[in-house]
Amino acid sequence: MFECYGKKLLRVDLSTRSITEEPLKHAFIERWVGGMGFGTKLLSDEVPPTADPLGPENKLFICVGPLTGTQAPLFAQTCIVSKSPLTGGIINSYAGGHLGGAIKAAGYDVIAIEGQADDLVYLLVTPDGAQIIDCPELAGESIRATEAAVKAASGRDDLHTMAIGLAGENRVRFACVVSETRAFGRGGMGAVLGAKNLKAIGVAGIGDVAVADPAAFKDAVAAAYETFRQDLESPWGYLAMFAGAGTGAGMSLVNEKHALATRHHHLTHFEKAEEIGGPGMMEKFPTRPVACLGCQVHCSMLRSPVKTKWGEVWTRGPEYETMYSLGSLCFNGDAEMLLKANDQAEEYGMDTLSLGVSVAFAMECADRGILPRNALGGDVALEFGNADATIKLIDMIAHREGLGDTLAEGSRRASQIIGQGTDAFALQSKGMEFAAWMPERMRGIAVTFATSNRGACHKRAPIGMELMDVIPMDGIEGRAALVAEIQNKVNALFCLVACRFAEFIVPMEQFLALLNTASGLSCTEERFMRLGEGIWNLERLYNLAAGIDGSEDRLPDICFEVPEDFPEDAKPLTREDFATLLRDYYAARGWDEQGHPTSERLAALGLQT
Ligand code: SF4
Repeated sequence: MFECYGKKLLRVDLSTRSITEEPLKHAFIERWVGGMGFGTKLLSDEVPPTADPLGPENKLFICVGPLTGTQAPLFAQTCIVSKSPLTGGIINSYAGGHLGGAIKAAGYDVIAIEGQADDLVYLLVTPDGAQIIDCPELAGESIRATEAAVKAASGRDDLHTMAIGLAGENRVRFACVVSETRAFGRGGMGAVLGAKNLKAIGVAGIGDVAVADPAAFKDAVAAAYETFRQDLESPWGYLAMFAGAGTGAGMSLVNEKHALATRHHHLTHFEKAEEIGGPGMMEKFPTRPVACLGCQVHCSMLRSPVKTKWGEVWTRGPEYETMYSLGSLCFNGDAEMLLKANDQAEEYGMDTLSLGVSVAFAMECADRGILPRNALGGDVALEFGNADATIKLIDMIAHREGLGDTLAEGSRRASQIIGQGTDAFALQSKGMEFAAWMPERMRGIAVTFATSNRGACHKRAPIGMELMDVIPMDGIEGRAALVAEIQNKVNALFCLVACRFAEFIVPMEQFLALLNTASGLSCTEERFMRLGEGIWNLERLYNLAAGIDGSEDRLPDICFEVPEDFPEDAKPLTREDFATLLRDYYAARGWDEQGHPTSERLAALGLQT
């Protein structure tokens, strides 16, 4: 039993510079399965909900899953669970690539980081042991330079890394952590590392990952590969679309549906969407698709170096969410500017979603006369569609200069600092900036943005079903219950640390066959879904104790205004419909009318109150 686990946690206390190994108990593994389950339970037990996210009391739990490092496809992700400096609540953040495989091969299921180093350090974990290494010379260095320096100093060519840039060191609240070509984007994990003076982590492992029933596991892997093969060979395949042009492949469809948030939600359609969407990028820039460990989809688009007016740019992506946040939302239709902005975000280490929404928020403030057009200094006007303004503001945020210092606090805090009613149009929920979807158009998005434990999150919403007209975009019947079910399912799959795209095509029985044959567990679908629901409730309890209650299950006023080009045959989001959706959601969850989990529901989920 539990053959595919390392069954160990590596605990690193930066304050005392002590590093210890702890066994993971079988009961813990069986109950929480891995990834998000491990991280959520550990954070709930070890970090007080009132702890300062940027203080030494906060911890990061870097978790892999039972299938990480096995032959199962699309399980290369790594999950970080911590307390978010952006929302003040619990956060889980994911990145693919190769780091997860290295952590598993090093023999660990979890690396726990705690305390605060007195000077800038990085953590090195290799078969020779784990050590904390001083690196004052890396202060202010870009992420690529940092990762290269850590790899070179280790003398190993099998080292995989994650690092922060200047934004993390400056505690920009939406600073991210980049791991080679992928990013732990949401929730400010880079700021948490920065506050701990931890510049990077490098891991190399040489261990094999065993499975409980090799013959049955081989069959389960073959079945999963067949599912992927069928999708990838289909002209209508979801993943085939991403394999062809990256995650931005579907931008035209979203635009046609009038669901592309444009010019800070004043519009639903962007006339330059074709220029900045996935196929447009593929036509303009020589590209090599790259993949996470063991994945045959290759959705990640690495561009050849491109000469732009801001200098030569070498970058990966941008992803769909970036095309929205720094593109249509800011009314920018310049593809080269997007490459440059994406590169800045990767080198400074900032979540492009929160970054773009914060830039657009500043442009909206200037449009309304709340901020002056010359707020950036010099002759660069702060206005929608001004590519130079976007590039300059990104620099200012990372360096925390002038207006950039305010925006580095995230849109919610920035609106509180600026005042003048700006909170009515700051695109955030629980402090987390909106992902690329419009609550005005899609009711599933309205519920998800308002109720997600990590804020305005898009990872647990019926996006495909609404876009493909499987269900009407503006229907409310049964929508809240559907969202709750998806939240539970995705939470359970994040215990396996599955790539989010796997859920689009892999049936539940294939996920369970992979898990059970690798681990020796006998997890049923019912138990698996209850695991996801239990984690959701545990997160909710944590957030409630942190002071995030039902009054924060809300959307900003701008979502109840009608965009200028709103389709005539569509229904805008009304406050009445939203109140019904929220009531339905609490009922579907078995919570009371204030959004508190009831003791009956918690008992049914095996959770203590
Ligand atoms: S589909 Fe894309 S993000 Fe997911 S594992 Fe494959 S390459 Fe990575």
